[in-house]
Amino acid sequence: MNLIKELEVGQRAVQAALELCCRVGKNNLKGRTISKQDRSPVTIADFGSQILITKELNKAYPDDPIIAEEDTDLLKKNNSLCQQLMKQLDLSIPGLTRAQALEILAFGSKSGQSVERFWVLDPIDGTKGFLNGRQYAVALGLIENNQVVLGILGCPHFPDEQGGLFYGVKGQGSFVKNLGSNVCRKIAVDGIENIKQACFCESVESAHAAHDFHSQVCKDLGISTPPYRIDSQVKYAAVASGVASIYLRRPKDEHYQEKIWDHAPGAIIVEEAGGCVSDFSGRPLDFTKGRKLKQNCGILVTNGFLHQTILQKLF
Ligand code: AMP
Ligand code: MG
Repeated sequence: MNLIKELEVGQRAVQAALELCCRVGKNNLKGRTISKQDRSPVTIADFGSQILITKELNKAYPDDPIIAEEDTDLLKKNNSLCQQLMKQLDLSIPGLTRAQALEILAFGSKSGQSVERFWVLDPIDGTKGFLNGRQYAVALGLIENNQVVLGILGCPHFPDEQGGLFYGVKGQGSFVKNLGSNVCRKIAVDGIENIKQACFCESVESAHAAHDFHSQVCKDLGISTPPYRIDSQVKYAAVASGVASIYLRRPKDEHYQEKIWDHAPGAIIVEEAGGCVSDFSGRPLDFTKGRKLKQNCGILVTNGFLHQTILQKLF
């Protein structure tokens, strides 16, 4: 499995999507944000990013299904939103019609079956971060035979303001390409074995993660550094590159089921950087049960050395 072409196509698509996101993000979107049915925000950048990436993947791999976050419902109902989107898309894909854009967007919103090979896409992971000038990521993963084999995270503000394209390929390691200089380097988790020296990260949004629970676990483990709060799968990039040793995620709402696109790309990048990813019972994440992680509860990401110690506190 070399996945050279998949990596090249995926990177090109994610970078094109990031350009669109950065262009749209320069305008004040606060008054032009729409709430989805689950009350989470969505912008024309989310739709535009999904359309650009889906189009590239469809061209290179017409038979590959894509499970992506956004669907066409809101755009069909909101003409003005659709017009704004088409204006942005015309700068990236001149001549694309509205009907074509909606058809491409709809391609990724299928329920998600267990097939041998499929892509997973979060066109903007951390839309709240995007809207508030914080961290966000364009996240793309490839699953083959029940395993994530490729993950790409386009992070415009991490590890620094030049941004980084993080990627991991099964059996080949994880890397980050500086988006300013194009210089690429291999990344690895930190080597911290003494849990008291560990830094842990969690979501900024208190509605997404049980901060109180995380804080109690860390206190019990003797971790005294304050949590590193960052949006999106940039948390996975932080663990993979040794900026943090742990990423903890227990949903605030106990009935919430995690979405596969919020974890598949990040998970392989951490694993290939030498780290470990599981649920709170120590089970691997199962990305083959549709759009959600139905079989997993809680997410624990570590540098590997600390995994068992933390699991014992969680179980
Ligand atoms: P984060 O930036 O870590 O807060 O994660 C952002 C992701 O949280 C989004 O991509 C959403 O899919 C996901 N999300 C939305 N609502 C919730 C919720 N109630 N609990 C946990 N995660 C959520
Ligand atoms: Mg998202």
